[in-house]
Amino acid sequence: SDPVEIQARLAPFDDDRVLVLADDESSQRRVDAVRRDFVANISHELKTPIGAVSVLSEAVEAAYDDPEAVKKFATRLQMETARLAELINQIIDLSRLQSEDPMLASEVVDINDVVTEAVSRSRERANQREVSLIVARTGEAFVLGDQWQLTDAVTNLVQNAISYSGERARVTISVMCVGTDSDPQVEIKVSDNGIGIRPEDQERVFERFYRVDYGRSRESGGTGLGLSIVRHIAGAHGGSIRLWSRPGQGSTFTLSLPTYLGPRPDAESDEE
Ligand code: ADP
Repeated sequence: SDPVEIQARLAPFDDDRVLVLADDESSQRRVDAVRRDFVANISHELKTPIGAVSVLSEAVEAAYDDPEAVKKFATRLQMETARLAELINQIIDLSRLQSEDPMLASEVVDINDVVTEAVSRSRERANQREVSLIVARTGEAFVLGDQWQLTDAVTNLVQNAISYSGERARVTISVMCVGTDSDPQVEIKVSDNGIGIRPEDQERVFERFYRVDYGRSRESGGTGLGLSIVRHIAGAHGGSIRLWSRPGQGSTFTLSLPTYLGPRPDAESDEE
């Protein structure tokens, strides 16, 4: 609606204050500070698409007698609202994952199903960019956890691999069982031959809202929250996420999760 009104509503959160934490700060104050920082980042990130929606809706109004222009502005309005919706969904996801009770399911999850679903969700984007998706499986792999969260995590890695590669790139998704008998792990590797990530950015990409090369990232329509969500999902499953990358050669993200070796769910049982 009114851009002035939007500014006013966002103003109370508009502090990009730098947080300096002394070593002896209590952990509660640390948590508060991190939360405040998160809110500041959120408001900053919401302003761009909200501002765009506001300007575009005025443009639609002003162009009412020019159908071509209306169509153009309306298309951009849809893109900006989709971006806004994704941002808000990711913020909700991340706040839930960061809370004391992330409300994750605990079921026996077939990692091959997770990969199949993640690939199918990414198919359209891959086709648009003529990127080939290659899946390499090596037999059964089960973990205990939340199938939809794990699917979101893998989808995120696959979609990043597509977004940050050139056209006609190759993205490989592989599932492998590794580790020792006492500590068996499932590794899901997502590799691309895209732009890669500089060493100094490799840890930072897992931070909330951190994006390398703003121009390129903005163009991809991302939010900078994806990898932070992936890291939290990995952590909530007792797993981890690692990154290998070389600028100009590509990146490999490895999601490791503890293997589930208990009884398998009986596939027949729900058909009784
Ligand atoms: P975004 O929504 O921007 O993709 P992410 O948290 O998923 O946010 O990723 C953070 C940043 O890490 C991205 O903006 C991008 O700069 C970089 N990045 C992520 N995946 C890759 C990749 N496969 N190749 C190169 N850069 C990547």
